[in-house]
Amino acid sequence: MWDLVVVGAGPAGCAAALGALRRRPGIRVLVLDKAGFPRDKACGDGIAAHGRDELARLGVPGLIDDYRPTPRLTVVSPGGMRVSATAARPNHVVPRLVFDARLVEAARAAGAEVRLHRVREVTGAGPVAVIDGRIRARVVIAADGANSAVRRLIGLPASPERHTAIAVRGYADVPEDDDVQLIAMQRAGWPAYAWSFPIGDGTANVGFGMLLPRLRATGLPGRRVLHGRLAELLPDRPARDLRAHHLPLSTGRPVPGAGPVLLAGDAAGLINPLTGEGIYYALLSGRLAGEAAAVAAGAPLPAYRDALRRALGRHLRTTDVLARLAQSPGFIDAAIATAARRKEVFDLLVEVGLGAGTVPVPLACAVASRWLREGLRRR
Ligand SMILES: Cc1cc2nc3c(=O)[nH]c(=O)nc-3n(C[C@H](O)[C@H](O)[C@H](O)COP(=O)(O)OP(=O)(O)OC[C@H]3O[C@@H](n4cnc5c(N)ncnc54)[C@H](O)[C@@H]3O)c2cc1C
Repeated sequence: MWDLVVVGAGPAGCAAALGALRRRPGIRVLVLDKAGFPRDKACGDGIAAHGRDELARLGVPGLIDDYRPTPRLTVVSPGGMRVSATAARPNHVVPRLVFDARLVEAARAAGAEVRLHRVREVTGAGPVAVIDGRIRARVVIAADGANSAVRRLIGLPASPERHTAIAVRGYADVPEDDDVQLIAMQRAGWPAYAWSFPIGDGTANVGFGMLLPRLRATGLPGRRVLHGRLAELLPDRPARDLRAHHLPLSTGRPVPGAGPVLLAGDAAGLINPLTGEGIYYALLSGRLAGEAAAVAAGAPLPAYRDALRRALGRHLRTTDVLARLAQSPGFIDAAIATAARRKEVFDLLVEVGLGAGTVPVPLACAVASRWLREGLRRR
């Protein structure tokens, strides 16, 4: 009998194991992943400063210190408004091949057993969960990503298509001193954007993403659209190692579990709908789920739900509303134009897009009135 079985050894799963073992050293934690590490994962590799805070809380503060910070950020809005500024705290770009393998090693070093195992069945016998007929656990944390099998197996629905994005990423050569994270939003097929995130070694992670229903509406093969748009938008950065994956946005998040099973990270549909950022939310939700498993093994779900609500409740409600407003590209134009004039607004947008930030009412009113004025002027 394991105290905790974590399914998936990505950022959410490793954070769950580390969070549980830090809260109650000595408990029996098993981490299962269908892949052996190091393994690649389609991702922009951007780790926000907030993600580094989480690494510190998990007891691995120096995990990515050997990667160069990238403090500068340029965002181009769908209508061509541009803001370039230095973020209050730098982000990092670390290939997932490296980042995830380091996290797995940290979980192992903290006392978790990590096994290669694809989970196919989860059944319940009262408060105990049974995985594939033979692994028994007091608590299971499903951290098995965007297409979570465990989420389906416990009867929760997959992320609805209208709340799911899809993105392709590749790697391209860039000058070694390129240290600007670029996000170029697109009016065509909006919401959609391309990015270039330099790693600091003469390569950058480049990619393009859009909402799944918008991709389907083109009637063309997904590969052709995603690869074609990426090549068209970043013509000076031909990409290799292209790889695509779904992004379950937090606007379509399910309840965070059932019985002894808790969902974390992409399995919990926690990706920021404005930016596609998910690593910070995976680390945070994984840690909270692990802590709940460690201290409230008899009834972990209420403890986890409360902790999630305290950490992210207001933020998630804010991004629910902003994602609806952002359906109009003019709203984003107004927000970026405001950020270009006021550094405190730029910093706030970073907090909302990459962290747990919320929007103060006066600022929401300022952006909305600019948006309305621009709309009237155009008419
Ligand atoms: C193209 C793209 C670009 C992105 N860019 C960024 C970015 O720049 N910054 C950012 O913060 N976020 C980004 N994201 C989102 C980010 O990648 C995810 O939010 C993050 O990986 C979520 O971590 P996770 O641990 O929940 O899931 P994952 O990282 O997907 O890990 C899930 C793990 O579960 C394992 N697994 C799956 N099924 C099973 C099973 N049945 N049994 C056992 N193991 C299983 C998998 O092998 C995998 O290791 C991007 C996403 C995409 C698709």
